[in-house]
Amino acid sequence: MADKSTLGDSLRRHGVSRRGFLKFCTATASLMALPPTMVPAIAQALEKARRPSVIWLSFQECTGCTESLTRSHSPSVESLIFDHISLDYHHTLQAAAGDAAEAAREAAMHENKGKYILVVDGSIPLGDPGYSTIAGISNLQMLEETAKDAAAIIAVGTCAAFGGLPQANPNPTGAVSVADIITDKPIINVSGCPPIPTVITGVLAHFLTFGSIPELDQYNRPKVFYGQSIHDRCYRRPFYDKGLFAETFDDEGAKAGWCLYKLGCKGPMTYNACATTKWNQGTSWPVESGHGCLGCSEPRFWDAGGFYNALSVPISDNSQTVAFAGAAGLALGAAAAGINFKEKDAAQKAHETVTIDDLEKSS
Ligand code: SF4
Ligand code: SF4
Repeated sequence: MADKSTLGDSLRRHGVSRRGFLKFCTATASLMALPPTMVPAIAQALEKARRPSVIWLSFQECTGCTESLTRSHSPSVESLIFDHISLDYHHTLQAAAGDAAEAAREAAMHENKGKYILVVDGSIPLGDPGYSTIAGISNLQMLEETAKDAAAIIAVGTCAAFGGLPQANPNPTGAVSVADIITDKPIINVSGCPPIPTVITGVLAHFLTFGSIPELDQYNRPKVFYGQSIHDRCYRRPFYDKGLFAETFDDEGAKAGWCLYKLGCKGPMTYNACATTKWNQGTSWPVESGHGCLGCSEPRFWDAGGFYNALSVPISDNSQTVAFAGAAGLALGAAAAGINFKEKDAAQKAHETVTIDDLEKSS
């Protein structure tokens, strides 16, 4: 169970060359939005890093978060990271079942006491412990037991981060988020319904590399991925700024790629990385395929007033529209987004001057 090998050992065992390793480190830096000048430090840290033990618990959820993760393309930074962590316990993916599965969880907790990462997807029902149990253990008891000796907790998906669908009105099970129960551990919320796989692995990469959690926003989400709104990075934004909106899903505006705001797009109040990271191997994302953002990475998005209702009607004048967008919530993230832009610009500039060949020579 306890793997004492380092990530460097593991990569070599898998036949990853020095050049391949540096490429991996460069991709990891980019995943964490760090400049390539950080690559040597990342390489050094990763070389020595022990494979962290990960225990993944699934409570009231639809398995969409795990599905999202397993759909990450291969070979990829994601698969590399997941090949090199010890996923000691995962309800959906593990082969063991019943008593053997529970024994695996207990062994992983015992052998990696204080060092393992706990990943949780799904909400926790407080209405009645019997609403959701695993091996006869209530979700609440299992979460409290497993969180006790975890180094950090990653709440994956909007259900674990904010309560999500199970918590939607009238919340029949009394569903709550991980942070509603665990208050004495660092918790990173990777929200989204489902969350973007790259974001999940980016957070794990950060922990693996630096042994710490990334900088978080007001909802405990990593700023590097949630620091800007969908609207900030949307390629349809010039249409919004010009007041050009599709009125139906098949009108001339929709065909011309105009802004989907009036069709209910929640991009202006939603903070996530979809517009830059995209989905399905970077192929596309909801707004690019013609549907407005639903706001799935925000608290209480299921009860936010209807997926196809516009937040309000923007005015078709450039300055007024921008002012309206500010009122719709952009101001909230403006400072963080500004910092993020600076970091990304710096990373981009550094990318222009540092190549794998340069890194290989200097390492
Ligand atoms: S409202 Fe939606 S479609 Fe329009 S620019 Fe903003 S994010 Fe893009
Ligand atoms: S575009 Fe909006 S609703 Fe769709 S996945 Fe991204 S954050 Fe969620």
